Amino acid sequence: MNLIDFTKQLLNKLIKIRLSYKHRNACLGLVLTLLILLLLPNSESIAPESQNPNQNLVLDNSAFSTSTFDPLNTATELNSVYEIEATIETVEANVGIQQSLENDSITIAEVRSGDNLSLIFDRVGLSPQDVYRVSNSAGDASILTRLYPGYSLDFDIDSEGELNELEVIINPLESYVFELNSAYNFDITHVLRDPQLIPIYKEATINDSLFLAAQRGGISAAITMEIAGIFGGVVDFMLDTRVGDNFNVFYDERHLDGEYIGNGSIQVAQYTNQGENFTAIRYVNLNGEVDYYNPLGESMRKAFIRNPVDFTRISSNFTLSRRHPILNTIRAHKGTDYAAPTGTPVVASGDGRVTWASRNGSFGNLVVVKHGERFETKYAHLSSYARGVRVGSRVKQGDTIGYVGSTGGATGPHLHYEFIMDGAHRNPRTVHDQLPKAESVPAEEMDRFNQQSQILMTQLNSITSAPTLAQNTLSTTTLSASTGE
Ligand SMILES: [Zn+2]
Repeated sequence: MNLIDFTKQLLNKLIKIRLSYKHRNACLGLVLTLLILLLLPNSESIAPESQNPNQNLVLDNSAFSTSTFDPLNTATELNSVYEIEATIETVEANVGIQQSLENDSITIAEVRSGDNLSLIFDRVGLSPQDVYRVSNSAGDASILTRLYPGYSLDFDIDSEGELNELEVIINPLESYVFELNSAYNFDITHVLRDPQLIPIYKEATINDSLFLAAQRGGISAAITMEIAGIFGGVVDFMLDTRVGDNFNVFYDERHLDGEYIGNGSIQVAQYTNQGENFTAIRYVNLNGEVDYYNPLGESMRKAFIRNPVDFTRISSNFTLSRRHPILNTIRAHKGTDYAAPTGTPVVASGDGRVTWASRNGSFGNLVVVKHGERFETKYAHLSSYARGVRVGSRVKQGDTIGYVGSTGGATGPHLHYEFIMDGAHRNPRTVHDQLPKAESVPAEEMDRFNQQSQILMTQLNSITSAPTLAQNTLSTTTLSASTGE
């Protein structure tokens, strides 16, 4: 086999094999190197017509089609190689539709806002008949009706314009592959990939706030929010945090093909607040529900969260006699005011059903949630309601129900939050300690829970008891030994 045949074969392979962009470019590099070898003046393979110095390459993507590309007829000088490389960059810069270099055979279309299958097919030059055929694939093709921005569609179209394969990529871990079969129909495969889970341990000591401490400890805002949520039932991060409090967290990083793709779940976390130690262990029960429990299997969560908004400061506490700032009269203030910027999300403090979601006098835009027979919570002065929140809708604890505003009788943007227990207004901040906890691990699952939690605690203790770490107020360790499944 001579160099020309080898180059041609390699090109053929490139076109047939689906490669990532990086790999394609690497292979292309090899092809270009071979081309250079072919074009060297002393190469015995050079055909007579390629000696013509005036011949110029038409360097669009079709230069790389198997049917039309012949290095002997097209390439003439080394300059061509650079022009080809320039073409690659142009292609990569095309954000809307990326086309590979193989005779347009792989075309990647990003799903845009307002897109549907017909629009996308049209954009890549496919016909309504193609839309029909793919939509009527053998199997569940419903993913094609649920295309959201962020997805990408990877088309494999041959030189006759025939769609051979379509991959709907939801994320690096999930895709649907539509593959043309011998019956001229599409087979659908749902592809799920498992990331590699790498356990990460981090700890920090509070000198100021949880968030600043976390930031110094290299803990992401998202993980910090989760920590605040997990311990929110036992620690009031607004009032209870003290200098010297410390916490640690043990979570997974998700990697795919050696690349970091995001964080997994917090497996176990500990918070020491004014000398009192709380441990939260993640447990998935037999129904697949996830929650955090202390080592005794009791939920870390209360039936209600303490603060339904990430407030910047409490502007007015619960009191039964207060001068009203607008009416200038002494009136009871039957709730807690949380000053926060307009638009800050307000969350339901517990599971329940919305019984009011509209204007209500001085409350402005008001949401009322009823939680079973005994409890009711009110969220006033909202700038707007969260999507789907209307009378009768069910909400879960932590669901966003609206956004901070200053509608009704409000002097500035804040959330006015009321907590009603057995028909009486209660101070939302102090009633919290009397509230019921969320459900514990079911008795029949305690053996299972204990087994899992002991493994996690052993892992955690093996790190925290290390003397070098105990002396540091702030440290970060990455465990390299074990990986998840
Ligand atoms: Zn108020």
